[in-house]
Amino acid sequence: MQAAVYYGPGDIRVEERPKPEPSSDNLIVRVRGCCLCGTDLKLATIGNPRCHPPRIIGHEMVGEVVHAGRDVRGFTPGDGFAPGDRVTLATTVACGQCPYCARGLGNLCPNAKPISYDFDGAFASYLAIPPLALKGGNVIRVPEAVPDDAATLSEPLSCALNAQELAGLKAGDRVLIIGGGPLGALHAELAKAQGAAEVMVVQRSEPRLSLLRQLQGVHVIDGAHEDVGAAVRQRTDGLGADVVIGCAPGREAQEQSLSLARKGGVVSLFASLPKGASDLTLDSRLIHYGELRIVGASDSRPEHVARVVELMAASKIDWQRLITHRLPLAEIHAGLALMQQKRSLKVLMCP
Ligand SMILES: [Zn+2]
Ligand SMILES: [Zn+2]
Repeated sequence: MQAAVYYGPGDIRVEERPKPEPSSDNLIVRVRGCCLCGTDLKLATIGNPRCHPPRIIGHEMVGEVVHAGRDVRGFTPGDGFAPGDRVTLATTVACGQCPYCARGLGNLCPNAKPISYDFDGAFASYLAIPPLALKGGNVIRVPEAVPDDAATLSEPLSCALNAQELAGLKAGDRVLIIGGGPLGALHAELAKAQGAAEVMVVQRSEPRLSLLRQLQGVHVIDGAHEDVGAAVRQRTDGLGADVVIGCAPGREAQEQSLSLARKGGVVSLFASLPKGASDLTLDSRLIHYGELRIVGASDSRPEHVARVVELMAASKIDWQRLITHRLPLAEIHAGLALMQQKRSLKVLMCP
C-alpha cells in the first residue's frame, strides 16, 4: 500500500509499505481521508524527536473498519467494533496507569504514545489500531449523520474543545481568536457551535484573510492594517473579549492578548511557543486589577473527540469552509507547501 513515511527532519517519503497485519487484538481500518496537521508540517521542516522514524504519519483521519480482532470486544462494555463501522481517532494514547491518567487527564500523561509518533498513522491506505489505543478508548465511532470530510476534523476540533472548556467558554460569550490559521479557524467555528454571541479572528496576512472572510458569522480583523484593540472594543461595548484564545505561535501575540480581554475575562494560551523562545513579559497589573485568568491547553482526550463528533452529528459545526484543499496522498508535499505558504486552512489527503 501507499504511505507517507517520516524518515527524519524534513524527510517525508511517499512509498510502498506492506499492509498492516490483522491480529486477534487489533482493528484494521481502511483510511478514507486524513487531514494535514501543523505537527506534520513541523516533521516536514524541522522534525520532532518524539516521532520515531521510519514512521507512517497522519492522525486526523476517518476510515472504515475492515477487520476487528475477536479479542477487541470486551475492553470497554459496548465498545465493540465490526467491519463497516466508520471511525476516527483521539491521537494521544495514554498509559492508563500514571497519576494523571488516574485523574482522568490522559492528555497530560507523561508516558503517552501518540499515534503517528509511536504507532504508525493514517497517511496510508490502511491503518492498524493497536490494543493500547482500543483499551484507552481512542477509537471513536462516526455516526451516519457525519460525512467523512467532517470527521477528519474531529481530532483538531477536539483540541480546540479542550481549550474552550478549560477557558469556560459559554453561550453568549464574545470571543476573540488571535491567529487565523487552521486552528484559529476551527476555534472560530467551534465557538459559534458553543453559542458564542460574537466571534472575532485577528489575522495579519493574505491569503488567510481571504479564506477567513469566507466563514459565516465570523468577524475578521486585519491585524496588519487595523487597530486591533479598537476593533475589539468596538464590538464588545468597549470592554474587551470575554475569552481570548491565542492561536498564533508568537510571543508578542500572547503578550498582547491580555490587553484584549475584558476584566474578569479569560486568556487561553492555546498555541505553543518554540523551546527557547517562550518567555513572556506580562503586565501583572492587568491580571491583578482585571482579575484575568490565564489558562493553558494541550492536546485532547477521547471524550473531547466524542463530543465533537456529537456536535457534528447535530449539524452544529459549519465545517465545509474549513477544508480548503483536497489532494491525493501522493501529493503530500504539495499539501505541506500550501500549509507552509499559508494558502490553506485544512488540507485533506486522500489515499
Ligand atoms: Zn493534529
Ligand atoms: Zn498515564
